[in-house]
Amino acid sequence: MMEIEKEMDVQDSHILARQKTKEREILLDYDYKKCAGCSICVALCPKNALQEGPLQEIAKGLDAPPVLIDLDACAFCGMCVNFCPTKAFKMTLRELPQDKDTQEAAESAGAQA
Ligand code: SF4
Ligand code: SF4
Repeated sequence: MMEIEKEMDVQDSHILARQKTKEREILLDYDYKKCAGCSICVALCPKNALQEGPLQEIAKGLDAPPVLIDLDACAFCGMCVNFCPTKAFKMTLRELPQDKDTQEAAESAGAQA
C-alpha cells in the first residue's frame, strides 16, 4: 500500500497542509488574510474538510482564520483552490527525486510481503 503522510504547519497568515508520498508532495497553502469568509469553499469541499471559523468574532476584529481545515479529511483535490474568489487557497505539487536503490528496496520488500 502506498504510504501517505500528512502534516500541518502555520507560517504567519499561511496555514500549510502537506500531503507526502514517496513520489510527490502536495502543498495546500491557505492564506487567511486573503480570505473573505464567503464560505463558498466550505459548501463545495467534497470531503467536508472545511468548516467555518468564528466568523462573528472575526467581523468584530478577532485575528483568526475564517476557515478551518480538517487535514485528515482533506483529499487534496484542489476544488477550494479553483473556486475561491479571492485566491486564498493555492496548491503546489512537487515531484520528489526518485532514488533507484530505495525504489528497488521497496519493490523487493513488496514482493516478499
Ligand atoms: S472561498 Fe476563499 S474567500 Fe471564501 S471562505 Fe473559502 S477561502 Fe475564504
Ligand atoms: S483540497 Fe479538496 S478536499 Fe481539501 S479542503 Fe480543498 S476542496 Fe476540500
